[in-house]
Amino acid sequence: MFAAVYHGRGDVRIEDVPEPSPGPGEVKIRNLANGICGTDLKEFYTGPVFTPVEPHPLTGKVLPVILGHEFCGTVTEVGDGVTDVTPGELVAVEPVSWCGTCDACRRGSYNLCPKIAFHGVMTDGGGLAEYTVVGRRMVHRLPAGVTPEQGALIEPMAVAYHGVKRAGLVPGQRAAVYGAGPIGIGAFLGLRARGIEDVIVVEPSAARRAAVERLGCTAAIDPTTEDAAAAITDLTGGLGADASLDAAGSPDSFLTALRSTRSQGRLVTIAVFEEPVPFQPNDLLFTEIEITSSMAYCDDFPEVIDLMAKGAYPTDGWVEHIGLDGLVDHGFPSLRSGSAMKLVVDIPGGEAA
Ligand SMILES: [Zn+2]
Ligand SMILES: [Zn+2]
Repeated sequence: MFAAVYHGRGDVRIEDVPEPSPGPGEVKIRNLANGICGTDLKEFYTGPVFTPVEPHPLTGKVLPVILGHEFCGTVTEVGDGVTDVTPGELVAVEPVSWCGTCDACRRGSYNLCPKIAFHGVMTDGGGLAEYTVVGRRMVHRLPAGVTPEQGALIEPMAVAYHGVKRAGLVPGQRAAVYGAGPIGIGAFLGLRARGIEDVIVVEPSAARRAAVERLGCTAAIDPTTEDAAAAITDLTGGLGADASLDAAGSPDSFLTALRSTRSQGRLVTIAVFEEPVPFQPNDLLFTEIEITSSMAYCDDFPEVIDLMAKGAYPTDGWVEHIGLDGLVDHGFPSLRSGSAMKLVVDIPGGEAA
């Protein structure tokens, strides 16, 4: 079968590799669509970062690895003991496995397992291939009406949704979202789906502000032409946002969020920061703002899938499709330059599967 294989920085090859078959408790999937994100870009341009150069503590995997961790497909075969998933069903994959015995796993917070392994990054197989095999608990069946394109977006939308839940808002409260890339958009849509209507988005790119405005955001602020903290304070009656979600991950976004969050409000970082933030803890002294983070997802897929089936995640205006053959020459560069916001790779032959 074909697969996009990562060998190291700048080196992703479409190769012919052995087709996997499902062992006990496993499910084989004909991949249909796979989203590309900042993690893939990081590996391609600056990696290896998360792809293992030493045997992964859970999977034992080392480079090279098949890429693709945001994907969906059709079940083609199930291993012994799998009785509740049937060939032909459209499924999305929650691409994580965990140890099951550590403190975090025992508390149910598998996203915080120190040995967490992402399929398509640290395991044998991924979504950027004709087929892949995963454990049954990674598979989520998709209801009628959810398309393969949406199926490929569940993973990043779940990342954002986990951040939304970490923000702890209830309807009537106000949020600020920093960054209107795919995760910021996912946070905006997730907040709205949970009844938080008042969402201010801060984003320097005009194209990204336009995208989130098309999705219904009525307060998209350009931090390069106005003082975003002052604007948010104005828009919230002088109080600041009840919670701020930082999906931009820069010193500017973090420090502005700190200035524009209400006292005793919460600041949630969802982004991976590229550089350290000069931060003075005294800034919290007079506000008792809580700073916390959001890591991937934990039992978020079912809720996102349910909201998706209800139409909470429109894809117009921010999701584009490419073929697997355009991944390296077109896909990575256009995401890196910002000329594309979110790319979904249509896996060749997937339509007929
Ligand atoms: Zn991703
Ligand atoms: Zn664990």
